Amino acid sequence: MAKPEFDDIYMELAVNIAKRSHCIKAQVGAVLARDTRIISIGYNGPPSGTHNCDEEFPEHGCARDSKGSCSLALHAEQNAILFAAKNGSQVDGATLYVTLSPCIACARIIFSMKISKVVFLDSYAQYKGLVADEGVEFLRKFGVEVIQYDKNRLSHLFK
Ligand SMILES: [Zn+2]
Ligand SMILES: [Zn+2]
Repeated sequence: MAKPEFDDIYMELAVNIAKRSHCIKAQVGAVLARDTRIISIGYNGPPSGTHNCDEEFPEHGCARDSKGSCSLALHAEQNAILFAAKNGSQVDGATLYVTLSPCIACARIIFSMKISKVVFLDSYAQYKGLVADEGVEFLRKFGVEVIQYDKNRLSHLFK
């Protein structure tokens, strides 16, 4: 039997980690890997020890920012990168697997942390109804490899 690729293993993990999110609107998961090892994981949500949006604001959800996103949450990428940085892991040259392509704010952080590759599942622009994926464009412009993962490879997860 063919062995699964690391891309498939990490993206499947990111999809499963997304389900841990307490966010009402979007659930995003991220896996940060380097040299075939996982450095960190993250999902979108407020900093741990603060809010659980779904439990605190079950009816209308939490307060929204100007772009319609949760005003309390860190994005999955941010949570994954912060955890790695906090624990002194080397993030330089790592690959980030994320279920939604990075927004521009996350793109700036990803670039600054010298993450060299991003593999995403769904387009943030498509999800938000925006014309361009600014985060993806920013990363590509400054030399970070960004590829969209072929969702069909994980078709068993989306039935
Ligand atoms: Zn929220
Ligand atoms: Zn973001």
